[in-house]
Amino acid sequence: MEKKDIDWGNLGFSYIQTDQRYVSNYKDGAWDEGVMTTDGNVVINECAGVLQYSQSCFEGLKAYTTEDGRIVTFRPDLNAERMEQSAVRLQMPVFPKERFLEAVDKVVAANAAYVPPYGSGATLYLRPYMFGSDAVIGVKPADEYQFRLFATPVGPYFKGGAKPITIRVCDYDRAAPHGTGHIKAGLNYAMSLYAITEAHAQGFDENMYLDAATRTKVEETGGANFLFVTKDNKVVTPKSNSILPSITRRSLMVVAREYLGLEAEEREVYFDEVKDFAECGLCGTAAVISPVGKIVDHGKEICLPSGMEKMGPVTRKLYDTLTGIQMGRIQAPEGWIREIKIG
Ligand SMILES: *Cc1c(COP(=O)(O)O)cnc(C)c1O
Repeated sequence: MEKKDIDWGNLGFSYIQTDQRYVSNYKDGAWDEGVMTTDGNVVINECAGVLQYSQSCFEGLKAYTTEDGRIVTFRPDLNAERMEQSAVRLQMPVFPKERFLEAVDKVVAANAAYVPPYGSGATLYLRPYMFGSDAVIGVKPADEYQFRLFATPVGPYFKGGAKPITIRVCDYDRAAPHGTGHIKAGLNYAMSLYAITEAHAQGFDENMYLDAATRTKVEETGGANFLFVTKDNKVVTPKSNSILPSITRRSLMVVAREYLGLEAEEREVYFDEVKDFAECGLCGTAAVISPVGKIVDHGKEICLPSGMEKMGPVTRKLYDTLTGIQMGRIQAPEGWIREIKIG
């Protein structure tokens, strides 16, 4: 299979249309059998449920080439399960896990020429999503839905190495207690755009959201979970019902315990404790871990001891081990890597 003529090392994180995507429609209480199509456009009624009342959810994962030349995805079963939770909370039909995995396999195989080569730092980003597709004007769940999964090649998240970022404590809330913060819904992102635009205008890279009820506990950023390291090398991640359960973060907790022999705990993290941590990072599929060097709370700066030049030592080990597992350089735990059969 001949690869596309793409400058892999200089790709950014933006949409590039690939050859094939998977589409399945839900109607009269059932999903159809699904097809692969070259058509990258969605045509829906002007009154479609998604366009009026934002009934939609999505996932994000990657396919990439391992050191020994296999094309694989990382824990896609967890994306399927999380999308199921999102669908249930948004009163949408569940797209079955086995079919989700089959769609991932088919889309990656059909676009194998777009899977970046090993060592380029680039990956094939996969975007499964689902939305209410028939006309809805009175507020109610749609009767018809579309599940779609497309692929787009994306560049290395950090060109020339991961530089620590600066974030601010945000005055807006991301998620209410008992709200929708724990599901991957577009609506959680729509309302974060104002806050992130304001943060960027003030010179910050990201927002740290606190719990909406008391504003004393750390939640997450707009699209990544927090991971902290204490001065005695314990890995700590915030526990809350309104945080999106990041697959990267859950995997890093296993890596900390099983591969690095570190203590790792998920517990409530008070903002007051943050000044005592040694390292801080943001976890998500896109970057794996983005190191945080500085956290600014209304002019008061917390400078992490790991500094503004490089990842802290524990963050670095976590990052190297997880990316090593993903790229096939380090033995993965059972079931973490799904190989895609090409042709
Ligand atoms: C997708 C997402 C994450 C990261 O989850 P991963 O499974 O690690 O990619 C974190 N927070 C929010 C709000 C998200 O939407």
